[in-house]
Amino acid sequence: IQQESMFTTRDIQATDAAHHLHPFTNTGALNAKGARVISKGEGVWLWDTEGNKILDGMAGLWCVNMGYGRQELVDAAAQQMQQLPYYNTFFQTTHAPATALAQEIASVTPGDLNRIFFAGSGSEAVDTMIRLVRHYWSVVGKPYRNIIISRENGYHGSTIGGASLGGMKGMHAQGGPMVPNIEHIRQPYWYGEAGDMNEEAFGKACAQALEDRILQVGPDNVAAFVGEPVQGAGGVIVPPANYWREIQAICRKYGILLVADEVICGFGRTGSWFGSQTLGIEPDLITMAKGLSSGYLPIAAVAMSDRVADALIAHDEDFNHGFTYSGHPTAAAVALENIRLMKAENIVDYVGTDIGPYFQQQLRATLAEHPLVGHIEGVGLMAGMALVQDKASRTPFPEDANAGLVCRDHCFENGLIMRAVGDRMVLAPPLVISRSEVDELCEKARHCFDLTL
Ligand code: PLP
Repeated sequence: IQQESMFTTRDIQATDAAHHLHPFTNTGALNAKGARVISKGEGVWLWDTEGNKILDGMAGLWCVNMGYGRQELVDAAAQQMQQLPYYNTFFQTTHAPATALAQEIASVTPGDLNRIFFAGSGSEAVDTMIRLVRHYWSVVGKPYRNIIISRENGYHGSTIGGASLGGMKGMHAQGGPMVPNIEHIRQPYWYGEAGDMNEEAFGKACAQALEDRILQVGPDNVAAFVGEPVQGAGGVIVPPANYWREIQAICRKYGILLVADEVICGFGRTGSWFGSQTLGIEPDLITMAKGLSSGYLPIAAVAMSDRVADALIAHDEDFNHGFTYSGHPTAAAVALENIRLMKAENIVDYVGTDIGPYFQQQLRATLAEHPLVGHIEGVGLMAGMALVQDKASRTPFPEDANAGLVCRDHCFENGLIMRAVGDRMVLAPPLVISRSEVDELCEKARHCFDLTL
């Protein structure tokens, strides 16, 4: 059996090397060593084709929130595929899975975000949101309000709209030119960028950067401010407690739409249905994906307030935007079942009051004193840890030491998936993780940090 699976692994790796261009990967470098072949998942665990068992500290890509191997989600997909695998919602038609899911999403979003537009991925949801907010200002008679402000090191996807809105320099450097009329302000990364400012003063300064930019480009030209409640792909950066309150006040002062990109934070990750609720944000729009279906099928959505929806609907013209898979019935049926499961298992409360606080506490108890770890921050079941050369002075490692990648590779070799964003180590396990699995995760992480020293 072992020999057979070894052959299978090499075979798959060879085919992969010959034909597959990997996302966010130096494919040439990967081909030299061969991609690891993942073949099975159950709960928070993965197996590769060589029989290694791996704790998935990233829930896939922050998405397999209800864990691997959920038969209920498989059954929901199979049943819907038999009845009606696909139909669109463009041509004066609709279907039960999309309508029921829209209602269900509206029931868990904060405020009056009662109307839902469906897309296939987080990036598509973000692109939809960009077009939608600009179109909104146009239909209410202010087409000049078309500048969207977001943040450096924010992540909003990989399509041309998402990459432009995101603030990652590496993404702007490829495949451009980027979309115009997008502005980036500083990120609220207290540990890394505040100097000797305390959290409150830094939170205020970062929010002030929004007002400064609004005044610089002209308040009447700004459509929206967009941010992740807690930055995810940028390294899990939790803003100072006053940050969002200040940001929100500035948006209201200048009549600018506030958009929460909840592709990661949505659906329980921070211990509430949406990160907006955890962080005290009242957004006008929310983009969501990933945890909506626990990643079992691709589906995403934009939820908008009654004010935005009513204006668009009152405007007697087609909204010229949509995707073949907007409201895909099979994906919608799986998302509906996923939300039903989340409610039946009380998973949001579990993250908010039980496993989330336990995870944060255990991570600190196990790793805060580790010589490599400069700082740990996080909320619910997401956390980021800064690796430093010297704790006291917060001196980072030299870039060419690649400390984050070295640590990530030790984890990978030792049965733990942890992601490196530069020298920030990132964790976001499935929301169904148990206390003993959290303990195991922390112990594995400590072992791998020791190996990295
Ligand atoms: N927005 C945020 C906040 C994300 O974290 C991501 C993906 O990680 C996206 C958008 C893009 O989502 P997708 O990869 O599904 O296109």
